[in-house]
Amino acid sequence: MANATRVRFCPSPTGNPHVGLVRTALFNWAFARHQQGTLVFRIEDTDAARDSEESYRQLLDAMRWLGFDWDEGPEVGGPHAPYRQSQRMDVYRDVARKLLAAGRAYHCYCSTEELDARREAARAAGKPSGYDGHCRDLTEERAEAYRAEGRQPIVRFRMPDRAITFTDLVRGEITYQPENVPDYGIVRANGAPLYTLVNPVDDALMEITHVLRGEDLLSSTPRQIALYEALIDLQLATRVPEFAHLPYVMGEGNKKLSKRDPQSSLNLYRERGFLPEGLLNYLSLLGWSLSADRDIFSIEEMVAAFDIADVNPNPARFDLKKAEAINADHIRQLDPKTFTEACEPWLNAPYAPWAPEDFDRAAFEEIAPHAQTRLTVLSDITANVDFLFLPEPVEDEASWKKAMKEGSDALLATARTRLAALDGETWKAEELKAAVLAAGEEHGLKLGKAQAPVRVAVTGRTVGLPLFESLEVLGKPRTLARIDAALAKLGGA
Ligand code: GLU
Ligand code: ZN
Repeated sequence: MANATRVRFCPSPTGNPHVGLVRTALFNWAFARHQQGTLVFRIEDTDAARDSEESYRQLLDAMRWLGFDWDEGPEVGGPHAPYRQSQRMDVYRDVARKLLAAGRAYHCYCSTEELDARREAARAAGKPSGYDGHCRDLTEERAEAYRAEGRQPIVRFRMPDRAITFTDLVRGEITYQPENVPDYGIVRANGAPLYTLVNPVDDALMEITHVLRGEDLLSSTPRQIALYEALIDLQLATRVPEFAHLPYVMGEGNKKLSKRDPQSSLNLYRERGFLPEGLLNYLSLLGWSLSADRDIFSIEEMVAAFDIADVNPNPARFDLKKAEAINADHIRQLDPKTFTEACEPWLNAPYAPWAPEDFDRAAFEEIAPHAQTRLTVLSDITANVDFLFLPEPVEDEASWKKAMKEGSDALLATARTRLAALDGETWKAEELKAAVLAAGEEHGLKLGKAQAPVRVAVTGRTVGLPLFESLEVLGKPRTLARIDAALAKLGGA
């Protein structure tokens, strides 16, 4: 049975989903699930100039990929439908009318130029530079005169003339003085409701109990609390929700990670082959931790332990290397079948460099366990197994130069002879290793040194999966043919 906790995730569909947004979704989702409460997914698409249908689709797709479910929202419905603000305009207009009628909001006729000029003057005089209340108590004559001039008013919310204090669940008690929270616009001159109105109105009507969101929205909280109080007086809301502001995420150079940062793009992580569980594990650490000595955990463990009071208010540093290391750990934890399935997208166009008909599933499944323990991201799978499916090893001059030293031709020739003696039951990693080891000894080389030219001859690369397991799967004819080709190239050089 769900308890009364109701939280919401309410992104605006602008641009591609980014990691900051995913972190907010994650904390809301984990909070809701921990409390066995309700997660409302709402789309804040009131900015027709910036919102797009494509971005809306991407948001839904991202939520599904991450494995988040929601109890009310798009494609799910619920008692407060619709959950797209663009479909709720009548609701907001009605609330704005009621606020005006009750004197909790008023028409403001000031032009942008007038507002700018007065702001400058206030600033010059060292006074607070927010809206100065010019239209708060206009007489009807004055308002009529403005209208006669053709001015179209905006609707402004009347802030109370007192301090607003609330207890942020992450930051503790916070107080805003009235001079720092001026009256603010809630409906544009063209009648379009603004985010400042629709966001708290929906939180009120959707009976949200906890607002968890980024610190960038902290300064809008006193305005929203005042609006809530007005809605309570109008019997449109029953309570002010609790607020919790999640810490900033800092990127390179200790600057706030911006949506435009390439490191922010969720699509990038998906295309590189982060597992959703790896990415979520990492993102949870941006402000939270399971325990001081454990960085790797499952989403279920996070849900079981999640308490908003444990969130650290200090800025969190985004660390791609750490994200990758955590992801690698999650890759290692997959069962083999899930691992090969997870690789599937990268085994095909446009990622895979080989022709589809050259792909050999049995060979892939044989080599996969060796790859699983070594991948940081799933997209690395192609470079690790391409030697099996490309007709020739990749050409990489730098690797060739690095591995092929003086005497490499002699070593390769000896290795070829020894490898050629193996077959069938003896074409196995252990025997293959013994053969190359023995070849190396003949030339006074340790295994590592003897292995390098063989690896480059066969795979084209200096690093890769364990060599002898690779040769075993590649098979004798192709292994020998590649060594022959390398010998020819060395001889011809
Ligand atoms: N739609 C807002 C945003 O994308 C959400 C604000 C909130 O969580 O209150 O930033
Ligand atoms: Zn005004």
